[in-house]
Amino acid sequence: MSYSEGCIICGKELVYTQGPDLKQCYYCRREIQSNVNCPEGHFICDSCHASSAFDLIEVYCSHSDSTNAIDMAVHLMKSNKISMHGPEHHYLVPAVLLAAFINLNKDGNYNKSGTLRVAKLRAEKVLGGFCGTHGSCGAAIGTGIFMSIITGSTPLAKKEWQLSNALTAKSLLAIAEKGGPRCCKRDSFIAISETLVFLSKHFDMDLPVGEIQCVFSNRNKQCKFEYCNYFPGSK
Ligand SMILES: [Zn+2]
Ligand SMILES: [Zn+2]
Repeated sequence: MSYSEGCIICGKELVYTQGPDLKQCYYCRREIQSNVNCPEGHFICDSCHASSAFDLIEVYCSHSDSTNAIDMAVHLMKSNKISMHGPEHHYLVPAVLLAAFINLNKDGNYNKSGTLRVAKLRAEKVLGGFCGTHGSCGAAIGTGIFMSIITGSTPLAKKEWQLSNALTAKSLLAIAEKGGPRCCKRDSFIAISETLVFLSKHFDMDLPVGEIQCVFSNRNKQCKFEYCNYFPGSK
């Protein structure tokens, strides 16, 4: 789904007006004068248009006020900056979790943009293909990055260390149980869902879960279709 022409979110043909009119960027929320219109109302500023996948994830999550991590993940995944499969998912997972968690936990004294920057530095070290070569899916490691940041874990911590490693383990096992080949969308959805259950159990925090229906199967050459829980109509 790479739109060389048309809206990079929905693919619809862009309309150019005499304009310019004030528009709000879909990702960074800045308001900018532009004479480009998507019929669905999407507008992406030049800076977000030119940014890397990692930067787009960071800017979107720092400006979003959503508490729905799955919704945020899907919004980002629809961008043509985010590959069908790729190591940007190793950052996407902790970034949407941090944004949702901090947006819900406004009194928690978290510095959202600071935590997103730290998560990015950590996620950049989790290279592409880790799932196949190290037996550790990067989306699952992303949940460990999330937990270690919100608990302030270090190698010497006790409870924080336990929670962070336990969450990675739970996510990784749930991902492994579905079998390969890898799908960065499926594995990210599983990792995020496992984290939401974990937060409810250990932090008494209920973030919205909702039903996940994958809209990316037509882009995935190795899609398991009806064998994937997120494929529309699967059992
Ligand atoms: Zn659009
Ligand atoms: Zn922007």
